[in-house]
Order: sequence, then C-alpha cells, then structure tokens
Amino acid sequence: MISFLDLKLVNEQYRQQLIDAATKVIDSGWYIQGQEVKAFEQEFADYCGTKHCIGVANGLDALILTLRAWKELGRLKEGDEVIVPANTYIASILAITENRLVPVLVEPDAASYNLCPIKAEAAITPKTRAILPVHLYGQLADMPAIMDLAERHNLLVLEDSAQAHGASINGKKAGNWGHASGFSFYPGKNLGALGDAGAVTTNDNELATTLRAIANYGSHKKYENFYQGVNSRLDEIQAAMLRVKLKHLNADTHRRKEIALAYAKGISHPAISQPIPASSTMESLESHVFHLYVIRTAEREALQAYLADAAIQTLIHYPIPPHQQQAYAQWNEQPYPLTEAMHQQVLSLPISPVMTDVQIDTVIAACNCFEML
Ligand SMILES: *Cc1c(COP(=O)(O)O)cnc(C)c1O
Repeated sequence: MISFLDLKLVNEQYRQQLIDAATKVIDSGWYIQGQEVKAFEQEFADYCGTKHCIGVANGLDALILTLRAWKELGRLKEGDEVIVPANTYIASILAITENRLVPVLVEPDAASYNLCPIKAEAAITPKTRAILPVHLYGQLADMPAIMDLAERHNLLVLEDSAQAHGASINGKKAGNWGHASGFSFYPGKNLGALGDAGAVTTNDNELATTLRAIANYGSHKKYENFYQGVNSRLDEIQAAMLRVKLKHLNADTHRRKEIALAYAKGISHPAISQPIPASSTMESLESHVFHLYVIRTAEREALQAYLADAAIQTLIHYPIPPHQQQAYAQWNEQPYPLTEAMHQQVLSLPISPVMTDVQIDTVIAACNCFEML
C-alpha cells in the first residue's frame, strides 16, 4: 500500500530528537510563551527572511488575527472587500468573513491554480482594501505582479502561505512578499507540528506588536488589556517539535521536488495533465515546494478507483469549492466555471519526503497503465 502521506513514518525519522526536545520542555516546568517559542519564532523569521514571526495556535488563526490586527490599527474596517482566489481551501475565506470583511472571489489562473493578477485587478472596486493570495499546493502566486497591483491601488496583501513553506521567487520566500503572511504547521503541512500550530510573518513592527497582543488576551503587559483579544498562542511543546523539524525542511523540500520531477518526466498518459512540464528542472522549480502534486483528468473518479485497486492512495484537494459550501449558501448559485471544473478534475498523487524510489516508479507505472472505459 502506498499511502498518500505516512505521517508516522515522517516523524519516525526524527523520533529521538523529538523525544529529547519534548523531554526538555517537560523538565523545564514552563509550557506557554517560553524559550522554545521565542527561539522558533526567531529561527522561522530567519528562514523566511522576515523581521518578525509571531507563533499562534493554528494557520486559520494566523490569517484571522492578521486581518483583525489591521482592523485594530484602522487599516481595515467592517465591510471592506478582500480579493481571494475562488478555488482556495476554505480557511482563507473563513478568515475574511470571521472579521466581517467581504470576500470577493476571483477565478484562478488555469495553469498555476493560483490567483490571476489580471482577473484580480478587474475585481477591484472602491471598497477593495486587501488581497489574500494563496500559494496553493505549494506554488508561490505571481507575487511580483500582485505586489505591483497592490501598490498601484494602495491595497494590503496577506499571503496565505499555509502550503508553501520555503517556496521562493528570485530568492525571496513565501511569507516575505506581502505585508504579512499566515503559515500553518498542521501535521500534514510541509513543516508540520505534532498537533495544531501556526505563525504570522511580517516586516511591520506595528502589526507584529498589535497581533501579538490580540493573540494573548489583547494584552501587551500581564493583566493590562488593551484589546478585546483572544487566546491563540503557539505551545512550547509544539515550538520544540517545530525547531527539530525546521532543520530538515530544506532536505524534505528537495525530496518533494525530486518526486515531482520524476512524475513530470515519467507520467505520459494522454488523459492526465500535469502541473509542471516534463522539461522542468530543479532550478525551474524554485517557486514550488510541492505540498501537493495535483494532476487533472476528466476521468478523475475512474483514475482514483484504478489507483486504489493498485494500492495507491490519492486524495482530492478539494472536492467542493467554497462557493458551493453550505456555509456560504448566499454564493451557491453564483457561477465560477473554472473553479468548478478544477474541483471536478483535480487529483493529488502521493508525495511525501519518505516515499521510496520504488514507490515513485509504482505510481508512475500505474498512472501510465490506466485504461479508460
Ligand atoms: C491548512 C491551511 C490553512 C489553515 O491551517 P490550519 O493550521 O489547519 O488552521 C489555511 N489555508 C490553507 C491554504 C491551508 O492549506
């Protein structure tokens, strides 16, 4: 059985280091807002190239709290419009509506699955105040174009980097392009904790201070509450786990790219479209860290069943687009044809740093042997 992502095997690689790190926290007697969080925040800010990293409880909170902090700072207000790709994971949109801001869904670029700067610009109205690009499946959105657009229209940019730790364009990483960025360290993400965890990166001192306070009961100073805040902090023990795993992130990313290149070169079935050309090289993949390897096929259900018979687990990211969810019933009748077509055709092949060469070859061979009815 080739599982989509064997988390047990992923973490087994670092078993002793994780146990040592957890033991250190247990023995320290200090479990919240201590040395591990502080050290991880510094290390992750250094990794992204940003001035600040603020650990929070999860990736959704990272996005929610950034928008909330911009509201507290008077840079956003209720009813302002935020442009967001229609084909994102629902968390990006929940963060907007949680703040009583208005999501404006924009169809993605058909080739990259990411926010299309031209369609984003066409969606700008006098109420637009921010753009929330999502680096979907691990590929950086066209950030040079998006930042240019934001500058011309005086818009805030919040990157959703939950799937793109370490992806870069011209050496500049996810998390360091926008005015702020939200990261998730959900266990299955490229940098995954052993539970929930998240962070915000930014170069903005004022945002960093405000966000840190909001995430800690609205308090800059113990028992003095400046905002009606929440409790959304990164745990010491998760920070300790993340410090162990951050050291291996570049090697893991390299392995993900090797698998992606093998798939791109090896899979040649005419009914399967691949996310990158067969001619791709390690260098040409700078902007992609392959959180997911997402192919498209009109025969999606048949291919998924065929691969399952061959003991290969695949997943669909995502089966129902946000605008067709019950949670957003007001959008259910609105057409987003490109987004809907993608949701009907996408299939994620197994990709994880612990896959063996034999397993990669098995997936390729199975895809190429797929017989359409
Ligand atoms: C995982 C994810 C999130 C949310 O992260 P959690 O840590 O699960 O809250 C947000 N956006 C995207 C694109 C994600 O993939």
